[in-house]
Amino acid sequence: KPHLLLQDVHRHYGEGERIVRVLESANLTVDSGEMVALVAPSGAGKSTLLHLCGLLESPQSGEIEIVGQKTSQMGDRARTQLRRSTVGYVYQFHHLLPEFTALENVVMPQLIAGQTQKPAEGRAMELLDLLGVAPRATHRPAELSGGEQQRVAIARAAANHPRVILADEPTGNLDPETSDRVFEALKSLIRNEGAAALIATHNYDLARRADRIVTIRNGLVVPHTL
Ligand code: ADP
Ligand code: ADP
Repeated sequence: KPHLLLQDVHRHYGEGERIVRVLESANLTVDSGEMVALVAPSGAGKSTLLHLCGLLESPQSGEIEIVGQKTSQMGDRARTQLRRSTVGYVYQFHHLLPEFTALENVVMPQLIAGQTQKPAEGRAMELLDLLGVAPRATHRPAELSGGEQQRVAIARAAANHPRVILADEPTGNLDPETSDRVFEALKSLIRNEGAAALIATHNYDLARRADRIVTIRNGLVVPHTL
């Protein structure tokens, strides 16, 4: 079973003459350990697709399944609960808490989810290590380079063992060499954790290193070659 599945998903905004048809009948599956790059022009619907996958928005019709759980009939609370327990999100700008260390930033979401301090620290160190920033564990975000900050943000997104990782331009504000390193770190994390990842990016060099590239065309999610 794929971790993430979209079936005949329809999403438009507005109505009548002002209708914006973003997704007509979108289908997509992302398996455990798979990294799918989403490349599409601005306005094509990347944010909409990520929001749908992250259960922040609902389609007008169609089904979205996360780890085999159908969401179309779920109420808001069940959706929020499923999102919190299964989805990790990486932003273009890291949004790390400036007054906390790298370690604390990765520990925090685990405490919020009900984990206790020691295991949360263990998990945080494991992730920081996997992403190559363990030596920076006790540093605050302002003391880290852009690439290090973004790797800490990725560790934070992965802290609660998400089965689906969504990323919107995760290397958008980094120089090319740093982008490469961060992207490779993200990739090894996804492989290691067996998460399903959908990564929106404008960076073709990075997109080529994903397992597959998709785009949005005529309201469909279709394979893409660069
Ligand atoms: P992208 O992320 O690829 O730039 P979006 O998913 O943000 O694209 O937007 C896709 C289309 O849907 C755009 O034409 C945008 O203007 C429109 N759109 C997005 N959100 C809304 C909204 N809340 N109300 C009306 N139109 C919207
Ligand atoms: P904003 O666009 O308001 O600055 P952020 O930078 O905080 O928002 O986040 C970037 C985008 O990621 C936002 O459009 C937000 O709605 C979206 N987002 C945040 N969490 C999730 C999630 N779990 N799944 C899907 N999208 C998400």
